[in-house]
This record gives sequence, C-alpha cells and structure tokens, in this order.
Amino acid sequence: MKKLLPVLLALVLIFSACELLPDSGAKPQAASDASIWAMDTVMDLRLYGDADGSVMAELTALLNELDRELSAVSEDSALTALNESGRTDNARIRLLAAEAQRVSGFTGGALDITLLPVSRAWGFSTGSYRVPDTAELEALRGLVGMDKLTLTDEGVSLSDGAMLDLGALAKGYAAELCRERMEQAGVAGRLSLGGNIQTVGTKPDGSDWLIGVQDPEDENRYLLTLRLSGAKALVTSGDYQRYFMQDGLRYCHILDPETLAPVRGTLRAVTVVTDSGLYADALSTALFVLGREAGEVLWRERGDFEAIWAEADGTVWVTAGLADKVAEGEFEVVGP
Ligand code: AMP
Ligand code: MG
Repeated sequence: MKKLLPVLLALVLIFSACELLPDSGAKPQAASDASIWAMDTVMDLRLYGDADGSVMAELTALLNELDRELSAVSEDSALTALNESGRTDNARIRLLAAEAQRVSGFTGGALDITLLPVSRAWGFSTGSYRVPDTAELEALRGLVGMDKLTLTDEGVSLSDGAMLDLGALAKGYAAELCRERMEQAGVAGRLSLGGNIQTVGTKPDGSDWLIGVQDPEDENRYLLTLRLSGAKALVTSGDYQRYFMQDGLRYCHILDPETLAPVRGTLRAVTVVTDSGLYADALSTALFVLGREAGEVLWRERGDFEAIWAEADGTVWVTAGLADKVAEGEFEVVGP
C-alpha cells in the first residue's frame, strides 16, 4: 500500500471546477483544485482563472518532474546520481546547493544539506527508525559538513562519501517555480506543498488570503490565522511533521549538525514568511535548529523575513512586521 498510495493519489486526485466565486465585476471566476502526491507529501493546489486547466496540468507535471529530479530516496533521481558519482551538472541542484550554502553561512551552519548519512542512520529516509549510539554517529562525522560540497561553474561536486539531501528547501523551490509560471499565465491561487504555503496574485473577489498556521498539538486546529495579500511564501518547520517516539522521547526529522541528533529544545515549530519560497524553506529549517532566541537576533539583523515561533509551553511569538496580519489567535510580539 505504501508504494501504491502515491501512484493512486497522482492518478486519481486531479479534479477541477469545484467552486464558482462571484467577482466584483460581472464575470464569475472559476476556482480549480488538484491534489497530488509528490516530493513525499500531499500537495493541494487551488487556482483561480485557469479556465482550460492548462496551467494546472503544467504545474502538476512540473511538481512530478522536480520529484524525479531532487529526491534523495528515489534510485533514479538526478540527486541520487550525484550522491553515487560525486558530481553533477544539474542546474537546479546547483541553484539549491548555492542557496543552502548562503543560508548555512549566516546561520552558523544550522542548515546543512550533507546530513543524509546521519538521517539514514536514524532511519528517517527509510522509515525504519532507530536511535544510533554516539560511536556510530561520530563515525559519520567525517562525511558531513557544508565544506564537503563545492560549487563548480556548471554544477556541484562532493568529496568522497558525502551525500546531499535537499529536503530542507526543495518544496520551497517548487513553490517558487509554480508561482513564476502562474504569474506568467496571469493565474492567481494558493498552493500548499506539505508545510509550504505559497499565495499568488489576488483572489477574484479582491479579499486577502486567509492562511492558518497549524497547531503542533492538534493537526485539526490553527494556532493563528493570517491575512496576506499578493504573492507570499509561508513555510513551517516543526517537530510534529515527521518524528518517532522511543522511551517517551520525541525524535524529529530535523537534525542539529552539531550533535548529529534530532533537534530537541523548547520549540515545537517555526514559520517563516517572506517573498521567496526557496529562501523561506531554507530559513525555516535553519531557524528550527537555532531556536527562538538566536532566530530573533537573526530577524533583527537581516530584516528580510518575518517569523512565528510556537513554543512547547503554548506561547506563540510573532515578529512585529507580521503582528498586524494576524486575524485570529493569541500571541506575543517580538519587537525590533
Ligand atoms: P523542513 O521540513 O523544510 O524543515 O526540512 C526538513 C528536512 O531537511 C528533513 O526531512 C531532512 O531531509 C533535511 N534536514 C534535516 N535536518 C537538516 C538540517 N539541519 N539542515 C538541512 N537539512 C536538514
Ligand atoms: Mg525547510
């Protein structure tokens, strides 16, 4: 069933024209929806104004193509070919590796796309979860580190035994490519690619996008809802998205490059809101590793993103630039 599910979802769950919304003018704008399985997650796409369904077809084809290219688990992806041969001239992999290098650089190495051997040891890529002992982890340390990857003019090369995992930023990149295509085609919409939300353009009735930030304690509840206008990326990294429990402890899928172990702290989730899906995705993973206080310092220094931190004690912190966008929910403001 595990293998069948993605296939079934990809084949069956493309449907459209479920809603007609009144426009402020005379002509109603059709909304069309599709739901596919790609990049190891369910992706929900809602488009406005894609009358003949051609943009939706392009987007689903693009998402499937990115899945085939950037998967660290699929045997025949371009990324796996890089991990086996140590080099690639794939332009998308190079672009993602460059962004990872940039974000890793100003987050003290919190983002590290070379952790694949370590996340395999914890069973995150296979689903056979286990807690490796310290000696096993330390033996892998020599394979890991952003210095193991080199950007060449045409691509990426890796030092011996190093392997890349683009899971921290591939979905944000996918959202960004979809946004570009939608903008070219003059189609508005809202994409939900796993923990990545991307809004594009303006809803037909001119109202803001209303986006919920999930409560880490309950997937059916929101911590907050936000009103956003135009094209925005809103990306969440959290310990509830993929994890296993052992002896009463939670082991989540985001690893701390210093300890080579799942991040454990007082943070349940962090959400980044900014204009670029790729940047938001890379940064949300890094901010989850850094924790709230270091993340706040970065927010003040950089001034190029907004964020929401959800703490284990239930406190929600929202940066000042986002506070007036909150439609519903209790929170504390992080000031400049
Ligand atoms: P995200 O859900 O965007 O926060 O990305 C989490 C995914 O990125 C994990 O499932 C791993 O594939 C990978 N990953 C885990 N820890 C790190 C890290 N510290 N830096 C970069 N990638 C990571
Ligand atoms: Mg991420």
